[in-house]
Amino acid sequence: VIVYRAEWVVPVTSPPIHRGAVAVEDGQIAWVGTAGDAPGGEARELGAAALLPGLINVHTHLELTLMRGFLEQLPFFEWIVTLTKARREVLTDDDLREAARFGIVEGLAGGITTFADTSESGVVLGAMQSAGVRGIMYQELFGPDPRQRDDALAQLAAKVTVLRERETDLVRVGVSPHAPYSVSEELFGAVAKFALANDLPVAIHVAESEEETNFVCNAEGPWAESHRKRGIAVVPRGCSSIEYLRRTGVLEVSPLLIHCVQADAGDVAVIREANCPVAHCPTSNAKLGHGTAPLMEMLEAGVPTGIGSDSVASNNSMDLLADARVALLAQRARARRPDVLDSHRMLSLCTLEGARALGIAGRVGSIERGKDADLAAFPLEHPSLTPLHDPVDALIHSAGPHRASMVAVKGRELVQDGRVLADNDHLRARISADAARLAQWRRR
Ligand SMILES: [Zn+2]
Repeated sequence: VIVYRAEWVVPVTSPPIHRGAVAVEDGQIAWVGTAGDAPGGEARELGAAALLPGLINVHTHLELTLMRGFLEQLPFFEWIVTLTKARREVLTDDDLREAARFGIVEGLAGGITTFADTSESGVVLGAMQSAGVRGIMYQELFGPDPRQRDDALAQLAAKVTVLRERETDLVRVGVSPHAPYSVSEELFGAVAKFALANDLPVAIHVAESEEETNFVCNAEGPWAESHRKRGIAVVPRGCSSIEYLRRTGVLEVSPLLIHCVQADAGDVAVIREANCPVAHCPTSNAKLGHGTAPLMEMLEAGVPTGIGSDSVASNNSMDLLADARVALLAQRARARRPDVLDSHRMLSLCTLEGARALGIAGRVGSIERGKDADLAAFPLEHPSLTPLHDPVDALIHSAGPHRASMVAVKGRELVQDGRVLADNDHLRARISADAARLAQWRRR
């Protein structure tokens, strides 16, 4: 038995415990309470720190970690086209795997223990597995041309068969038909049937930008032009992206909906009706100039919602508690009220509600007896954290950047004394060298 002691223990499902302790046995939480009442065992003193459940990042693109700062200030269409082209022309699977490994290092440094990642290359599953973190890797697929449906589906099936052999207790495979502008109506329907038959979780980027809405509703804008140039018929659907997805049948598998910025009250009702969870990515949505998703409305409707960092190409860091602060501030600014959301609710979105969105709340997301010991300790020594009244207010409103001193996944420590064990100079040099190649490609 290992007994962690910390100035504060924050179980999420109950109020913070001052001078608390958590006992871990066989990778599971065996006991939680005040340090004075803790059972005997090997003591781990975390000192002036808040011990939290490991954070759950419900949307990442780990393989794009080497694209941090690569494309700034571009209009969204140009941004995504350039990014996709660069990935396909310049980077090998090996480059992407190293980038994913480094992305996991960054996430662990910020206390993230679970990653819900969409990956085109498919290398992220192996990276998560060797790093010892928890996650779902959704294999991405594209295919805007209805004639591509059978080929795209056959390729997906082949990839999933190989990936599934590598599933473990901690890492799972899902599928991600990318977005309404990159996947045809026919392919959405086919993927939904495939996912249902194979019991695979699904994630979709949707309602992210005005350009996307214009494409779906009116068959206008840069994607419509680009599709027509490629000989792909573009049909005005006369509805929102979310309503369009409903009509394709794909919402019947309750996919994780990523973004939902362009969602009105009717769309929120559709999301709720279809039991879809949402990945809210406030920093990415703001940075790319897309806007602010109706987070309060989704929460009010009871939509399971987590916080996602999105890729570092659009964030540019992976600091989930910082994203939670951005989300809170954006909603208060939008509502012009100081009493919407609070830091405890935001922490819950980063932990328990994120776990619910991914269907794993029975195992992680809170510090409770019987759950897996996914834990993250954050030091409370920075000047901005004195005086401290409530550790969660402090972590959300005044701490940052958030650097964990100890992180464990299912009881295995992956960060010790503030050092990510998987981090090394060789990996960093590799990432920088690959990023330099990308920059050179762009200048040519
Ligand atoms: Zn994304």
